[in-house]
Amino acid sequence: MLERLGDEWTLLIIQRALLGATRYGDFAAQLPISHAVLTARLRSLTGEDLLVRHEYRTNPSRSEYLVTPRSRSLWPMLTSIWEWERRWVSDHVQPLPTMRHRECGAAFAPVTTCRACTKPVADNEIQASWGPSGSWERSVPATNNRRRSAGRRAGAALLFPQTMSVIGDRWAFALLVATFVGIARFTDLQAQLGAPPGTISARLSVFTAEGILVTDDDGRYRLTDKGRAFLPVLVTALQWAQRWYPDADGPAVVLTHTGCGQRFVPMLVCDQCAAPLRGPDVLTAP
Ligand SMILES: [Zn+2]
Ligand SMILES: [Zn+2]
Repeated sequence: MLERLGDEWTLLIIQRALLGATRYGDFAAQLPISHAVLTARLRSLTGEDLLVRHEYRTNPSRSEYLVTPRSRSLWPMLTSIWEWERRWVSDHVQPLPTMRHRECGAAFAPVTTCRACTKPVADNEIQASWGPSGSWERSVPATNNRRRSAGRRAGAALLFPQTMSVIGDRWAFALLVATFVGIARFTDLQAQLGAPPGTISARLSVFTAEGILVTDDDGRYRLTDKGRAFLPVLVTALQWAQRWYPDADGPAVVLTHTGCGQRFVPMLVCDQCAAPLRGPDVLTAP
């Protein structure tokens, strides 16, 4: 998941595609992206089955880029990112537009509920444990993707500045997940993740500066309200990853809703009309 989505341009292009952009010119007009980067991203998104290229005219050849089932199912994660950035991050270059729910017409916020019992879930009601294919070693693969990190710098701090500090970096993401499951001490974080101390402390400094983590008197790292509010992004990202990149051994992470005791699958509902949200019903003002 981090390989595919740890790049802000990728998320922004998919988001625009979900909102109706199809042609090269649509993306170029809607995003402050260079032609070279847009061309490269459209090619890699097509290769990863996140967009499909469709030639709608020949001579001269004209193509459009359409969402696939794989990218269409990213809407819960993108909606959760949008909500978190809108609510908790104040230093956007331009304010994020309001989200509107087509069904009720209202400006809304997504509420994360449990599909099994349909109740809203609090962050302390989700219990995470490793599944058959899960471990820090397997889930935080030690890859070094130069193309991705170059693109990340180029696209940094556009619409999702702080989200990218979490999901744009595999160590940062793992670190935040570790704090969600209750690992709080520097030495424990380092031992669990197996990362160099400098790597851990650099990520902890960023999260502390962003107000996602705080340290208490005993030197333990704890999630702030803002940090805990990131949970919907983590669980929707995980749901997407496990759906589209399943492991033959079984899931990497198993989530339980302690409120009802059942396996937790996130379901987003509209806070205005309480109806379950569907991707095509989530709109943003232009
Ligand atoms: Zn439940
Ligand atoms: Zn609604």
